[in-house]
Amino acid sequence: MKTGIPSSPGIGVGKVYVLHEREIPLGRSGPNTSIGSGGTKAHTIRSDESEMERFSRGRRVAETHYNQLIERVRKNIGDDEAEIFEGHLEILTGEDMEDAVREAVLENGLNAELAVIAFSEETAKEFEELDSEYFQQRAGDIRDIGRRLAEAIYYGSITDAADMPDGSVIVAEELTPSATAKLDTDKVAAIATEKGGRTSHAAILARSLAIPCVTGVEDLLDAVNTGQTVLVDGEAGTVETDVSAERLEQVRRLNSAAEQQAEKRRSWSASTPAAFADGTAFGLWSNVSGGKEAETAASYGAGGVGLFRTEFLFMRFSDFPTEEQQADEYRRVCRNMAPNPVIVRLLDCGADKPLNYAYHPEEDNPFLGERGIRFLVNREKRLKAQIAAIAKVHSEGFPIKVMIPMVTSLEEVDQVRSLIPEDAADLPVGIMVETPAAVLCIDALAAKSDFISVGTNDLVQYLLTVDRGNARVAEYYQEFHPAVITALRMIVDGAHRAGIHVGVCGDMASHPETALALLSLGVDEISASVNAIPELKAALRNVSRAQLDGLSDALAGSENADMSRREAESLLQSGPLPWAEAAGS
Ligand code: PEP
Ligand code: MG
Repeated sequence: MKTGIPSSPGIGVGKVYVLHEREIPLGRSGPNTSIGSGGTKAHTIRSDESEMERFSRGRRVAETHYNQLIERVRKNIGDDEAEIFEGHLEILTGEDMEDAVREAVLENGLNAELAVIAFSEETAKEFEELDSEYFQQRAGDIRDIGRRLAEAIYYGSITDAADMPDGSVIVAEELTPSATAKLDTDKVAAIATEKGGRTSHAAILARSLAIPCVTGVEDLLDAVNTGQTVLVDGEAGTVETDVSAERLEQVRRLNSAAEQQAEKRRSWSASTPAAFADGTAFGLWSNVSGGKEAETAASYGAGGVGLFRTEFLFMRFSDFPTEEQQADEYRRVCRNMAPNPVIVRLLDCGADKPLNYAYHPEEDNPFLGERGIRFLVNREKRLKAQIAAIAKVHSEGFPIKVMIPMVTSLEEVDQVRSLIPEDAADLPVGIMVETPAAVLCIDALAAKSDFISVGTNDLVQYLLTVDRGNARVAEYYQEFHPAVITALRMIVDGAHRAGIHVGVCGDMASHPETALALLSLGVDEISASVNAIPELKAALRNVSRAQLDGLSDALAGSENADMSRREAESLLQSGPLPWAEAAGS
């Protein structure tokens, strides 16, 4: 049994599917490569010929891989997408690649893998130097082709998650957000990784899709092999590698009982309004990353989508999705949430959420760099396309709104507004307040906005100068820090002075004690992760308005984060959850 960090609850059993970047040993081909060095020459030439044979064999494998990929993409996504991989295939089979590899093998004595990587790296660098965003972005593609071809040469095959059988347990060193977004999640029973933690975006996605997940499991890849049956307990944070028939039967029974409970929980949540003990309602919305999740959120009785994280939609594609492709997904989310509103956040990539196919220049401080709206402002064509897609769905009569991430200046709001088509002039535009600059300019920003949503994940990080994903400084990440409470109060007051609504879509909205603090400060609605909704409704319905006012006073007078947290926690009752009570009665 291996132990890691519990990152998404539930128990998943299945056969391991190791999703890895296989290591490709690179280097010169040893003594045989000493071309031109006297006595070894004849032998060397034979070896170099065989390097070219290895190259040709690998290329045939890669060709088959790309042809299958093109077919699959054409069928599942569309012709435009498939064309991208046709371009890859052309590079792979083109003469440029073959000539360069031949030269590197015959004249420089490289082995086939290194020759391929050297060619792709050189070409990628040339692309990056061109003054064209299109070519700069293709640099990543070229490197990817080189890597896959080198893998095919060395291993005779290319790993591909699309081959994964139903009910697989994904095991990886690390799952990047884009690899997670591309997974066929219907086939995934659980996820276990060596790196990452609870706040990594892969874990956020696993939680929102209700896939059991354990991260930070040391040496996991040494302990399991593809095809082996394992059990992942996302609550206990364990990966069991030796699973007996009795244990499997026990888990089957546990899971079937859990499914019944889940159905009771869902139906309780659907029929119970979000309200305090005295019946006053509060806004409880949901964060989603796509149409499927919006459907679940609606089935839990969410009052709307407070944050549609569109970067996960973008990560499912291999190039920027077209206006049409985006509009299709925005419409799907709106349909599933109808008649309630949907807030679509403009692409928030960069820093910990890079887009594979976009050109992200190397940055010393990516969290202070070209992320959020800054990325889009520098690529106006992309910004325009996304706004046009949202405007299209708005013009079809859906209650959709647009939200700008990482705002630090008034000009950013002006620029987004200037790109809204004339026939969609009434499309509501809101901002995320997640930087200290936005807090300090709240009145001016509120005057230009139709609504505000607080991104507490980043706001806490930037206010307290503590990296939200760094376990070593986790104790400094204090949501009840007086500076955070003061900032929240400033934001709420600023929004209300301007007569607009203020919500919160950061993680503080997803936990009962922080949600209580937010509502006590006067936040109009909270937008929580889908799976937190029933527990939030259950916890907050026991709290009265008077208690909430008391909490607000306590927070105002407190200079100690721990004390403030305890004040909030003291309002929560322990005891069985209402759907469990119903089961017992
Ligand atoms: C936030 O920063 O609070 C937020 C909701 O956005 P993200 O977690 O995607 O940065
Ligand atoms: Mg953020």
